[in-house]
Amino acid sequence: MDPSNPLSAALASARPARPYAGVVTLPDPRADPNGAQLARLPLSPALRAQQALELRRRLAAHVAGQVEVRVTDNRHVMLSVKRDPRHRRYSLRAHHIFAEAPAPTIHALAAYVTDNDRGASRELSRFIDANEHRLPRRRGERRSALRTSGAVHDLAAVFNDLNRDYFDAALDCTISWGRDAARARARRSIRLGSFTHEENLIRIHPGLDQAWVPDFYLRWVVFHEMLHTQHPVTTTNGRRCFHGPAFAADERRFADYERAHAWERRNLPALFCI
Ligand SMILES: [Zn+2]
Repeated sequence: MDPSNPLSAALASARPARPYAGVVTLPDPRADPNGAQLARLPLSPALRAQQALELRRRLAAHVAGQVEVRVTDNRHVMLSVKRDPRHRRYSLRAHHIFAEAPAPTIHALAAYVTDNDRGASRELSRFIDANEHRLPRRRGERRSALRTSGAVHDLAAVFNDLNRDYFDAALDCTISWGRDAARARARRSIRLGSFTHEENLIRIHPGLDQAWVPDFYLRWVVFHEMLHTQHPVTTTNGRRCFHGPAFAADERRFADYERAHAWERRNLPALFCI
């Protein structure tokens, strides 16, 4: 047994308890038939490498071209892909929950890697939503489920479309509906979206997941947050500037820019009540 490999250590602990000095106590996997405890264990580099090889082998069956795979435990970027379609070379970083994914998910992952396929992206979001509870919670971290599918709008689809249309599908970050907040307080301002560099995460106000909020307006809010991933915050005379001239110029690239602003002006009272 390799004590640095948590999987082998966990399997070893399934045998009758034999105390070793200095060995980390691990939960008995038999107590958790779903393997949820195993998923909470930290990954050793050796296990990650092994999972990456296995995932690459499974993907290779569906991908025409060359795939590099790295397995991570970064829950803020569950998946990221760099694509070089001309040379059919793809580089995937995937969270380790994908290492043991069932065959249909691997199939969807292959379509996502090669073509940024929209249906595949939905399927992968569903897989992440269904497995999110298995992910570890870091110390001090609030449990915040990443959620892309909404009752009306699908953030993963919006993000992927915008990424393809405006960013050459090169933008690499995570998106989620924000947590439901208390509603209809007296507000002086409302934050419809946010981007945090530390988490590499865009959050969208869950109140925008309503039928009266048109697609083009939601796309505008997401596009704005996507620009924040590209524009550093500047400081002028001690004041932090989030939306400088370069940012404003970039915003103009959005096809429905005027339409989104006109809709926002008309619907400001309703937006303040979401
Ligand atoms: Zn902004």
